[in-house]
Amino acid sequence: VQFDMQRGDLPVAWQQFLESGENSMSSGKKDELNRNMTLRVRALESLLLEKGLIETPAIDELVDMFENRLGPWNGAKVVARAWNDSEYKQRLLADGTAALAEMGFDTIQGEEMVIVENSPDTHNIIVCTLCSCFPWAVLGLPPVWYKSAPYRAEAARDPRGVLREFGTEISADTELRVWDSNAELRYMVLPERPPGTEGMDTEELATLVTRDSMIGVSKVAPPSAA
Ligand code: FE
Repeated sequence: VQFDMQRGDLPVAWQQFLESGENSMSSGKKDELNRNMTLRVRALESLLLEKGLIETPAIDELVDMFENRLGPWNGAKVVARAWNDSEYKQRLLADGTAALAEMGFDTIQGEEMVIVENSPDTHNIIVCTLCSCFPWAVLGLPPVWYKSAPYRAEAARDPRGVLREFGTEISADTELRVWDSNAELRYMVLPERPPGTEGMDTEELATLVTRDSMIGVSKVAPPSAA
């Protein structure tokens, strides 16, 4: 299976954000994103795809989310806190929706959030086999490939093969779990904390966490490789 990894149909600022490999952006770049009408159109398009209908307050909320509380950076902060705060991590795994709300990340359509934890024994990957359901509140807009037919079909059928497509090798004795998102229930992966990060504070840790690692198609690289 070949994935369309072309990002040419995304807004330039968003492409740069993705290519930069970092979640933290200058306020100038954020301003650029905030002004980007294409991003608004994509948000609306994705919402339409998911729900088949729209409501004005939901659109306003969605635009505000991507303008002001931009995308995967929310998820990165959640992951970093969980790595450094074991009590928060317990709450996050026990009741994702409540633990995200605790950090100010409310779901906008009333969907439940479930956070699944990666470990040396278990690797989790999320997909929406039906359409494009995605954990908006923490990861922002779904990437183009997440909505593609090959990913949606193959992630469920051959997750190990899909991970290879992303350059992610998972050892044969690691159990792979695929989580199929839907309108009511969304998943986010809590990736493994990489080695070499023992002394890092939550702010530093968050800069290492990528969107793809929270979808489960990649791991978080150690700081030396980042
Ligand atoms: Fe969906």
